[in-house]
Amino acid sequence: MEKKAFVTKEQIEEIVKTYPTPFHIYDEKGIRENARKLKKAFSWNKGFKEYFAVKATPNPYILQILKEEGCGVDCSSLTELMLSDMVGFKKDEIMFSSNVTPKEDFLLAAKLDAYINFDDITLIDFYKDIADFKETMCLRYNPGGDFTLNNEIMDTPKDAKYGLTKEQMKEAILKLKSYGVKHFGIHSFLASNTKDNGYYPKLARILFELAVELHKECDCHIAFINLSGGVGVDYKPTEPKNDIEIIGEGVRRAYEEILTKEGMDDVKIFTELGRFMLAPYGHLISKVIHEKHIWKEYIGLDACAVNLMRPAMYGAYHHITVLGKENEEAKYKYDVTGGLCENNDKFAIDRMLPKIEIGDYLAIHDTGAHGFSMGYNYNGKLKSAELLLKENGEVKLIRRAETPSDYFATLDLTPFKK
Ligand SMILES: *Cc1c(COP(=O)(O)O)cnc(C)c1O
Repeated sequence: MEKKAFVTKEQIEEIVKTYPTPFHIYDEKGIRENARKLKKAFSWNKGFKEYFAVKATPNPYILQILKEEGCGVDCSSLTELMLSDMVGFKKDEIMFSSNVTPKEDFLLAAKLDAYINFDDITLIDFYKDIADFKETMCLRYNPGGDFTLNNEIMDTPKDAKYGLTKEQMKEAILKLKSYGVKHFGIHSFLASNTKDNGYYPKLARILFELAVELHKECDCHIAFINLSGGVGVDYKPTEPKNDIEIIGEGVRRAYEEILTKEGMDDVKIFTELGRFMLAPYGHLISKVIHEKHIWKEYIGLDACAVNLMRPAMYGAYHHITVLGKENEEAKYKYDVTGGLCENNDKFAIDRMLPKIEIGDYLAIHDTGAHGFSMGYNYNGKLKSAELLLKENGEVKLIRRAETPSDYFATLDLTPFKK
């Protein structure tokens, strides 16, 4: 499928008069429409709720939009909990899916009365010394082995640090029951950025069957099943695109065949999507500041891996639109780079694009999730602003760009002042 930017060159030329590049910009309309589609696809389940993975886009204005669309939040750290609390998420609207959890984080999660998803059996007694158990507690499952879909290995849970084994799940439930816990949630995350409508249904079957087994063997009430994240997006125009309606229907069928059949038809379905909720609705907008002709043709941007780490870290593909040249033929081959002193600081390698000139604006696609948030400050480069393109076409600054004083803020520079 062709990928179109949600902003035009004219819009960007207007925006940069107030907010210079680079910046991430988010499309409120796209975010809302997509959130509604997800909700509709799972509307067959009365208790359905999406807990947006805060780590994907930890900005309160984005969280507020998702809250208005009926979403909760999935947190995994102290500051993500604090942010969610500030935005007004309460109690059952917060899922705390952490691992290697420090004491302070559990304390705040308990204070906020969030759902707590234990990553390990040893955390139960660790937690017991910190706070009281909620009536409903959640456990993260790791089935081990390989996770396959259509005979293809998608991921290898046996090598993943997360979750409890099946035996531990049973032991944990009996232990929690003895501590007065009445209801249980189960959670698992088995493959990331999947592009197959069969991922959630397959995961659902594994968890539904486990739920039946736990219900029978441990005589416990399973209140919810959390399918976690992992539904991916089509970063490449040639990739298949997930169809959330088909996914929701696939999960519904598994639910009827396994849970309804056992009379367990009050189990709520939760999701913790991050990428699927936000990635397509963000662009990193950057300006071409240099070009270089050596053994290859290079285009140098005012953005770098600090603003979007996925290409440098995973060799990830992010589509690029040269704004204003959408209809020109892509017949020039470029490496599109940032200015870090790291040769992997390349947004694209050997990418066919229209002829690029200094001053052109590039829209780097699908940066709405795991984009800004993975940023760092290597080479003393500063993190960019985040802008929201509102439904009425206005642009709102939802995070200002860092300045050198932000970079120096954690140092005591008094001994060095002249
Ligand atoms: C990262 C994460 C998610 C979100 O993953 P996506 O790939 O963005 O959907 C959900 N749950 C947990 C526990 C995670 O760590």
